[in-house]
Amino acid sequence: MAEPFLVESPDVTYSQDFIEAKYTYSTAHVCRENGVTKVRPCSTRFTFRTGRQVPRLGVMLVGWGGNNGTTVTAAVLANRLGLSWMTKTGRKTANYYGSLLQASTVCLGTGPSGDVYVPFRDLLPMVHPNDIVFDGWDISSLNLAEAMRRAEVLEWPLQEQLWPHMEKMKPRPSIYIPQFIAANQEERADNVLSGSMAEQVEQIRRDIRDFKESSGVDKVIVLWTANTERFCDIVPGLNDTADNLLRAIERGLEVSPSTLFAVASVLEGCAYINGSPQNTFVPGAVELAAQRRVFIGGDDFKSGQTKLKSVLVDFLVGAGLKTKSIVSYNHLGNNDGKNLSAPQQFRSKEISKSNVVDDTVQANPVLYGPQDKPDHCVVIKYVPYVGDSKRALDEYTSEIMMGGTNTIVIHNTCEDSLLASPIILDLAILTELCQRITFCTEADPEFQGFHSVLSILAFLCKAPLVPEGTPVVNALFRQRSCIENILRYPGATECHHPPAHGGTPG
Ligand code: NAD
Repeated sequence: MAEPFLVESPDVTYSQDFIEAKYTYSTAHVCRENGVTKVRPCSTRFTFRTGRQVPRLGVMLVGWGGNNGTTVTAAVLANRLGLSWMTKTGRKTANYYGSLLQASTVCLGTGPSGDVYVPFRDLLPMVHPNDIVFDGWDISSLNLAEAMRRAEVLEWPLQEQLWPHMEKMKPRPSIYIPQFIAANQEERADNVLSGSMAEQVEQIRRDIRDFKESSGVDKVIVLWTANTERFCDIVPGLNDTADNLLRAIERGLEVSPSTLFAVASVLEGCAYINGSPQNTFVPGAVELAAQRRVFIGGDDFKSGQTKLKSVLVDFLVGAGLKTKSIVSYNHLGNNDGKNLSAPQQFRSKEISKSNVVDDTVQANPVLYGPQDKPDHCVVIKYVPYVGDSKRALDEYTSEIMMGGTNTIVIHNTCEDSLLASPIILDLAILTELCQRITFCTEADPEFQGFHSVLSILAFLCKAPLVPEGTPVVNALFRQRSCIENILRYPGATECHHPPAHGGTPG
């Protein structure tokens, strides 16, 4: 298989099946002894082994007929077919802007005329989005062409070209438990499974197997991009362990549809990613994934306002300014906004958006005491007229030198689904790549995979799911470095940030 570049180093070897790279991860242990803070540099020698065989990847979307589901499917088709279309400002061509892997670059090193950059996707053998095969479920029965028209995201001349392709795609009937999403969604629920909870989970498992067989893909990843659900209570005996969760499903107790999909995917050995804010990954679901060694990741796509927040607050606090108040106001008019206009579903989103600056604030004890953090308020309003074109207004107020005040106001407008779609692709492609990476250390020479909670996905998620006891990193460029450090060949640059797992890649 031809690589876009070859690394000539004793630390990197290429075989028929693997790329193997030795990598020294340097860090420092800090402790206090006899009143003195001592810093002890230390390093761990890792060997990373990446399978070179790129599989044919199938992605099953829960909520396939929604704005994100139709937009990502249409975008991949348009790219695969090389489509272009006229708008009032000229001809547009399909692209993957907004995808970390496809549209951003990494410095490979220095050449005769300066630094040499390559796309992220060239660092290791990865699935190309054009080759992804989509399938999925929706509680609404519209075919994907009709659903794309309902979404009002893409220009009509493009929709017309895509219509014959999308028309053939029809979401599979899904699990619908009305109390989890807003009551205003009921009118579109005409494509729902019946039977007991356990029977419905069985049907989802059959769907996954059926898709795999009929499409000929080698691997399936399942991703939730359906409506935001309300939070679930964590109840001992119900969802606190894998066994209890499986028993709760058998008995038809309170388990959310997103958790039922997670269980079905994990039992089929398929990675499962949650793109919405609710607590799909109750402790029992996390334990089940760990037992079965299946990757799970989430929560909530980090597309617009939160992405900017995790950069801006990192900048302000990193520059030594004391951010005291962050007020975020949104209005949007798509079906996501309609669902979020119900209090319990809004609450899920509010929680997911609220912790994004915590690690940045805690990292600066010069400015913030242990209990000290900025006031942080999030408002979301449903305004049908603006459709998918979400408006986000943010005000950041910081204390500057000698009691001065600095206020920054930002107004952000763009189509929500066009930001989320490339993130969906990155999540699936990165997860698939991680399934082909194993590593060992000198101390533990047996090759192992990453932890089943895939925290390398944090760059793409608003409320990153991390293994228990691991610190959450929200700052965007630290999250990007995590991915870069895992993917880049050794020796290119010093590793300045801990790998994605908050210490060791385990
Ligand atoms: P949408 O309402 O257009 O699509 C959701 C789809 O899910 C709908 O077609 C609905 O019928 C379907 N659905 C609801 N319950 C279902 C179930 N149990 N099984 C199968 N299908 C079901 O919303 P969207 O704009 O596509 O967003 C999807 C999700 O992604 C939302 O939860 C949203 O909060 C989250 N999200 C979106 C963005 C973004 O930028 N677009 C960012 C972060 C998170």
